[in-house]
Amino acid sequence: MNIILLGPPGAGKGTQARILVEGRGMIQLSTGDMLREARTSGTEMGNKVAAIMDAGELVTDEIVIGLIEEKLEGDHGGGFIFDGFPRTLAQADALGALLKKHDAKLDAVVEMRVDDNALVQRITARSTCGNCGEVYNDITKPIPADGKCESCGGNEFKRRADDNEESLKTRLMEYYKKTSPLIGYYYHAGALKPVNGLGEIEEVAAEISEALGG
Ligand code: ADP
Ligand code: ZN
Repeated sequence: MNIILLGPPGAGKGTQARILVEGRGMIQLSTGDMLREARTSGTEMGNKVAAIMDAGELVTDEIVIGLIEEKLEGDHGGGFIFDGFPRTLAQADALGALLKKHDAKLDAVVEMRVDDNALVQRITARSTCGNCGEVYNDITKPIPADGKCESCGGNEFKRRADDNEESLKTRLMEYYKKTSPLIGYYYHAGALKPVNGLGEIEEVAAEISEALGG
């Protein structure tokens, strides 16, 4: 099964993708994670994307489509979760063509619905474990008092350079202008499954599981 997790920054795509990876053996393809990895590599591409990401703008279609194309050449495991991709209509068209080339199809597009106020709160309070990527929130899911990650025991936590109010404003506007048209695109394709992204993590996970047919 191949699915897209669609939703604004902070909707919980990464958190839910991790649950699907654990529960169903799916492979998470997060273009955000790939780009963050690229920027630490010090390559020309990495340096180019760093400034764009920190400002909250979208990296070019060419770069992200290239990243996804590479991954689709590899192991298809229990299917792919596209997390943070596609983000433009051109990326959506490219994904359709790439899947076709691999004789694969898109089974569902899970649209995670969350309101903007919740997004600001979630993102400005967010940190992640530097070792395993577990996501924490200063208010709703603080780092344990002993300073150790509950999932791996690591003790280094990171905040993303673009998780500040200024860059979030740009990220939200980019989402509404360039990504939200994908809701209509996938609705028309008959693949759209809206879920309420505002509940507890487990509640959202249950709703997604139901949307995917249990
Ligand atoms: P979020 O969904 O919380 O904004 P991501 O980790 O998905 O975070 O993305 C972080 C940044 O990486 C984006 O603001 C953008 O600059 C870049 N990026 C990620 N995926 C894409 C994509 N598919 N197309 C263009 N830019 C992307
Ligand atoms: Zn950890």
